[in-house]
Amino acid sequence: MNIIEKLRDIVGERASASPAERLCYSSDASQVRGTPDCVVRPLSTAEVSSVVELAAAEGVPVTARGAGTGLAGGAVPLRGGIVLDLSGMDRIVELDLSNLAVVVEPGVVQARLNERLRPRGFFFPPDPGSAAFCTIGGLIANNGSGMRSVKYGTTRNYVLDLEVVLADGSVVRTGSRTLKAAAGYDLTRLFIGSEGTLGIITQAVLRVAPLPKARRLVIAAFDSAEEAGRTVAATFAAGIVPSACEILDRTTVAVLRRCDPTLRLPDGDVLLFEVDGSEGAAAEAAAEIAALSSTTAASVAVVAGAEEMEEIWAARRLVGAAISRLDPAKSRIYVGEDVGVPIKEIPALIREVSEISDRFGIPAMKYGHIGDGNLHVALFIDVLDDGEWARLAGAADAIHRAAIRLGGTVSSEHGIGAARSEYMNEQLGSSALSVMRAIKGALDPRGIMNPGKLGLDDGPSPGGYG
Ligand SMILES: Cc1cc2nc3c(=O)[nH]c(=O)nc-3n(C[C@H](O)[C@H](O)[C@H](O)COP(=O)(O)OP(=O)(O)OC[C@H]3O[C@@H](n4cnc5c(N)ncnc54)[C@H](O)[C@@H]3O)c2cc1C
Repeated sequence: MNIIEKLRDIVGERASASPAERLCYSSDASQVRGTPDCVVRPLSTAEVSSVVELAAAEGVPVTARGAGTGLAGGAVPLRGGIVLDLSGMDRIVELDLSNLAVVVEPGVVQARLNERLRPRGFFFPPDPGSAAFCTIGGLIANNGSGMRSVKYGTTRNYVLDLEVVLADGSVVRTGSRTLKAAAGYDLTRLFIGSEGTLGIITQAVLRVAPLPKARRLVIAAFDSAEEAGRTVAATFAAGIVPSACEILDRTTVAVLRRCDPTLRLPDGDVLLFEVDGSEGAAAEAAAEIAALSSTTAASVAVVAGAEEMEEIWAARRLVGAAISRLDPAKSRIYVGEDVGVPIKEIPALIREVSEISDRFGIPAMKYGHIGDGNLHVALFIDVLDDGEWARLAGAADAIHRAAIRLGGTVSSEHGIGAARSEYMNEQLGSSALSVMRAIKGALDPRGIMNPGKLGLDDGPSPGGYG
């Protein structure tokens, strides 16, 4: 009996080895490619457990997949085997709001959870640009975040307990429903950010937060992106922590205006500061940021209207796609796109990225969650030009190394996957990477869980871009 027949014994027709399905699961939103031997769509923890137990017995790789919106090749099966598509496990099991908690399956889409919570006066704060598509399982596995992590933290700060299927098919719970616990190793955090290399998350208990009563948006325009970066550092140094702090460089602003000429954004390199809280606290924080920014900015405005604020945030969420308006002959390629540095190094990072873009002759737009020190660099090329692919790879590599040199990270939120695994040793150091490999060896001795990721093994790399 071959493996597909054994998988069908567990999940019926929800196991497939058709060439069309295998092709559909051979990529995510990155440039990494790898084709699975079969695709399985489980609907319960018991099914996941049986599939993993079978895979362990046969020594077949298992790669978990949520919505496939990852930007590092995390859900791409580099060594073939089984892709476990968890998007069908999408029940919101329980709203336990008196305990500030919700219980969800991993395939729940982030925005759908917030649609359920909003009428009850709560929200799940991690809000990636991909919120309308990405799953809670993918967010936990990547420790994803978004615009409001500067105040509210990342996914890591909102996971109380996980149910995980381990590499031998056994099932563990990692935490508890209490809002705090001091009971040994923090197994919950071990699985957060593990990118499917240690186990499959089949249920999560998440902490949620009450919706703030009021918000304000401060829009400040600067003569240079570096000046904007210095103003972010000065704001933090003054003890002011906004709920969001985003940068849109002047090219990004111009692109957004091409999409919507009525958009109320000023000329220049722009900072968007959002503050929230009670009516009085939000107004006071906005006034403080406006006063501080006005010492360096060319213009400062405070927006209080919910509709205008939403227009600007909606435009911000469009940036990734809007870039194609800059030059229809070129495409944005997601490489070197997620670096982060300590706040005080933001001006240096912005300077280095501009210099790298000039040196390699690859245009770059800069935007992102600058309040976390997280800069999204949008590099774009003519995809039919091999020379541009080669220069793109050089520019992305230089951006990653600049971030590490400045004491930062090659990924603030998109994860390592296969796209950035070559930097793990340089960023973490060989001792820390050895500890990670020891943990991996203990929990997954046969190396079947998402092999080839996080720099944990020395197998074939994704083999370049394109
Ligand atoms: C336009 C766009 C904007 C984006 N903006 C942001 C942003 O602002 N912030 C941000 O953080 N990310 C962003 N991303 C990246 C991406 O959406 C996130 O990384 C997201 O967390 C991935 O979720 P997913 O469900 O698509 O996971 P996938 O891409 O399917 O998988 C991601 C990783 O999680 C693992 N995984 C998935 N489910 C499980 C599970 N149940 N158990 C164990 N492992 C699992 C996979 O093996 C893989 O390693 C963006 C992506 C796009 C395309």
